[in-house]
Amino acid sequence: MALDFTFTEEQKMLEDSVYRWAMDWLEPQMEHLYEVDEMPPDLFKETAKLGINGIVFEEKYGGTEMGYVETTLAYETIARVSNALSMTVGASQTLCFDNFRRNATEEQKMEILPKSVTGEYIGCLGITEPNAGSDAMSLATKAEKKGDKYIINGSKIFITNGPVADIFTFYAKTDPEKGPHGISAFWFNMKDAKGLTVEKIKKWGHRTSPTGLMTFEDVEIPEDQLIGGLNKGVAVLTSGLCTERITLCGCTLGSQRRCLEESLKYAKERVQFGKPISSFQLIQGKLADMYCDYKASKWMAYSAAAYCDSLENKSGGKGTDLDRMAAAALLYCGEKGTKIGLDAIQIHGGYGYCTEYAVTRHFLDQKLWDIGAGTSEVRRIIIARELMRDNFASGL
Ligand SMILES: Cc1cc2nc3c(=O)[nH]c(=O)nc-3n(C[C@H](O)[C@H](O)[C@H](O)COP(=O)(O)OP(=O)(O)OC[C@H]3O[C@@H](n4cnc5c(N)ncnc54)[C@H](O)[C@@H]3O)c2cc1C
Repeated sequence: MALDFTFTEEQKMLEDSVYRWAMDWLEPQMEHLYEVDEMPPDLFKETAKLGINGIVFEEKYGGTEMGYVETTLAYETIARVSNALSMTVGASQTLCFDNFRRNATEEQKMEILPKSVTGEYIGCLGITEPNAGSDAMSLATKAEKKGDKYIINGSKIFITNGPVADIFTFYAKTDPEKGPHGISAFWFNMKDAKGLTVEKIKKWGHRTSPTGLMTFEDVEIPEDQLIGGLNKGVAVLTSGLCTERITLCGCTLGSQRRCLEESLKYAKERVQFGKPISSFQLIQGKLADMYCDYKASKWMAYSAAAYCDSLENKSGGKGTDLDRMAAAALLYCGEKGTKIGLDAIQIHGGYGYCTEYAVTRHFLDQKLWDIGAGTSEVRRIIIARELMRDNFASGL
């Protein structure tokens, strides 16, 4: 049994460089940015310098050719400062561009991916609609063929990076009669689009990560901007879901770690009843639980990432072990992260209720991970479905 839970020297170097950048560049801005709910405009140019943008992309697209373990580690490390901005990077680079890389033509990839690596292009992905959330296949956005174009009508909600993105990948019904078999994936450059309106959504958490309501009114998209072929949208969508769920675990892991670190520090400094509060066993119990939950979450996430990296196609989907592992990793990381966030607030007492403390932001951001990328309920449904499939044989 080969069990080695240590990161390689290369992975540790990645972690160190991202952490130094996050603490030096991002941390000093965070309180203000959170207050005004703004993404730092240079974010993607900065992450380009760190080699994060094309972290799994092939060299020909400007990528670094690392794996999903490294991607998760990069997202965890950004999230030690900002869970929300780690998600913003992930929404662009993993949800939008990595899935584009898996499914687009070589010509499309050469046109788009190098600019995503340099930070010139920011991406967003639109699946969710006002009336199609967990039941994503019931989406109602329509793409009607007229000559050599598709005319798009409908709307997408909760789209991370929608208000700042350049490239928008999304799903629409091209053959509504066929249900899930009549869905296609598209991309377009938002700067070229007429008829698209973007409204920024106000949120109490994940502030700094811009979220949009995107409305299409007769938006024209050239027919060659289909991704993966006509009516192949479900295959495109599912090819990236597992890597999305796994790498986004990094967002919650970073918050978990920061909450534990801040709580340990605060508990040792804060004196009540003549002693540091860390000397009280009720506080010690919380710290011990936070540690166990973080370590277990970390194992769930990185073991799923390492398993994914070991697969030739690095892809999951219905009927695969990766599907179960990815859903389980995000379910566990999300729920434990929310508990850790609550414990961190509790340890900080009244100060934990004030916006100047980093734990407050981490707690507010963290709650998203019981909802986004498929809710906790949906993840449980996936895990149970995969456990109950007839040929389920491995992975316990
Ligand atoms: C900040 C933020 C960023 C996001 N970013 C993106 C993005 O970039 N792109 C994108 O496409 N989407 C994005 N989303 C959308 C997100 O994926 C959805 O919110 C999520 O899938 C849930 O959909 P819903 O909000 O419509 O909830 P609903 O599906 O309406 O669910 C409401 C409740 O019912 C439960 N429920 C639903 N069906 C079942 C069932 N069968 N059994 C048991 N319980 C059920 C849910 O678990 C939930 O608790 C984002 C959301 C947020 C809040």
